[in-house]
Amino acid sequence: MYEILIIRNGEVSIKGMNRHVFESSLIKNLRYRLYEFKDLKISKGDGRIYIYLNGENHLDVIEKAKNVFGVVSISPAIKTDAGYENLKTGIRNLMEESLVNSSNTTFKITVKRQDKSFPMKSPEMNQDIGGYILNEFKDRVSVEVVNPQINMVAELKKNENIIYFEKIKGVGGMPLGSNGKACVLLSGGIDSPVASYLISRRGLYLEAVHFHSFPFTSDKSKEKVMDLAKILSRHTGKIRIHMVNLLEIQKEISEKCPEELMTILSRRFMMSIAERIALEEECNSLVTGESIGQVASQTAEGLLATNNAVETLPVLRPLIAYDKEDIIKLAKEIDTFETSIIPEEDCCTVFLPKRPATKPRLEKILKAEELLDKEALIKKAIEVKEIEIVG
Ligand code: ATP
Ligand code: MG
Repeated sequence: MYEILIIRNGEVSIKGMNRHVFESSLIKNLRYRLYEFKDLKISKGDGRIYIYLNGENHLDVIEKAKNVFGVVSISPAIKTDAGYENLKTGIRNLMEESLVNSSNTTFKITVKRQDKSFPMKSPEMNQDIGGYILNEFKDRVSVEVVNPQINMVAELKKNENIIYFEKIKGVGGMPLGSNGKACVLLSGGIDSPVASYLISRRGLYLEAVHFHSFPFTSDKSKEKVMDLAKILSRHTGKIRIHMVNLLEIQKEISEKCPEELMTILSRRFMMSIAERIALEEECNSLVTGESIGQVASQTAEGLLATNNAVETLPVLRPLIAYDKEDIIKLAKEIDTFETSIIPEEDCCTVFLPKRPATKPRLEKILKAEELLDKEALIKKAIEVKEIEIVG
C-alpha cells in the first residue's frame, strides 16, 4: 500500500545556512544504513527527506530508519495524482486500509493546501471529505476533532497529493559527521558506552581509546570492549579502538607515588594519552562516562584533577548529572548493558588503592607526578599501542 516514507529531521531544518549540509549528511547516513534494501530511492524536498519504497516492506525500512541519528519522525504515506477528486479517493483508500481490524474509529481530516490556487479552502475541504468518509464507512467511524484515533493528513500539491496518518518517533539527534569526530575513553563498564552513544547522537563520529594492563588483565577484557564497540557501531558507524597498555605507568606510579593517589594519577595519564591520540586522529573533543559523585575519583576535586591533565580539547561528560539507574536504563535500550556486566578485570582494579583520595588537592597530585618521567612514559605507551577496527 505505502509508496513513500516522509522523514522529518527537526533540528536539521532549523540550521539555516547549514541545512543543506545537514540534509546531505542525513541522506548519506540513511543510504548507508538502509543499504540492504536495494530498491529504495532517497531524496530531499520541502525541508524533509523522502524515501521511495519501490516495493520494499515499509515496516522493515522504518525499523532501521527510525534509529538513524537525525531522524525525528517518520510517516508512511501514499501518493495520488494531482487534483481534489484524486485526493478524496486516496484518503478513502488509506482509511479503508487503516480500519481493517477496528470498529468505531474516531477520525478527523486535515488538508494542507500547498497549491493555494485551489478555489476551495482547507476547512471546507476537511468538512467535505469528512462527510464523504462518514458516508463511505457508515457505522465504523465517527468524527472527533480534538483527539482522534486517526488524524488523516492530506497534502494537496500542484503535481501530486500525499496522504498519511501515522507519525512514528525517531531517535532524534543530528546526522553522523555533522559535528565532526570525538575521542571516547571507552572502558568495559556500563557508563562509557552510554556516554559514547549520547555524544554520537549529537552528530559525532567516534574514535575510542581503551586502557588495559595486559598480562594482568586478560585478552578477554579487550574482547569485551570490542564487543561493546561493535554494538555501539550499529548506531555510530565504524569505530577504531586504540588499545593502550597502561601497566608500565601503573607500576611506576605504585612504586614512586603515594598509594591513595594511584587512581587519580592513572586517570590523568589516561586523559593525557587520549588527548594526544585524539589530536593525531583529528578529533575535536574527549568523552568520558564520568558522573558527579559516583565514585571517589568523580568528585569535583577529582574532575578538576583529570581536566587539568588535558591541554587543548574540551572534555565532554554527557552523564555528569545522570543517576546510575537512568544510565542503566539507557544501556539496556542501546543493548550494551548485558555485555557491560560480564565480569572482567579492568586496568583500574589491578592497582586499586585501599583508600583512594576523595578530595585530592591538585597541588599534591602535581607534586607526586613530578616523581615520574611523565613524557617518556606517555610516549612509550603510545608507541606500542594497537589498533582494532569494529563495525
Ligand atoms: P565505566 O562504567 O564507563 O567504566 P565507571 O563508573 O567505572 O565508568 P571509572 O572507572 O571511574 O567509572 O571511569 C570513569 C571514566 O574514565 C569512564 O567512564 C571512562 O570514560 C574512563 N575510563 C575508565 N577506565 C577506562 C579504561 N580502562 N579505558 C578507557 N577509559 C576508561
Ligand atoms: Mg570503569
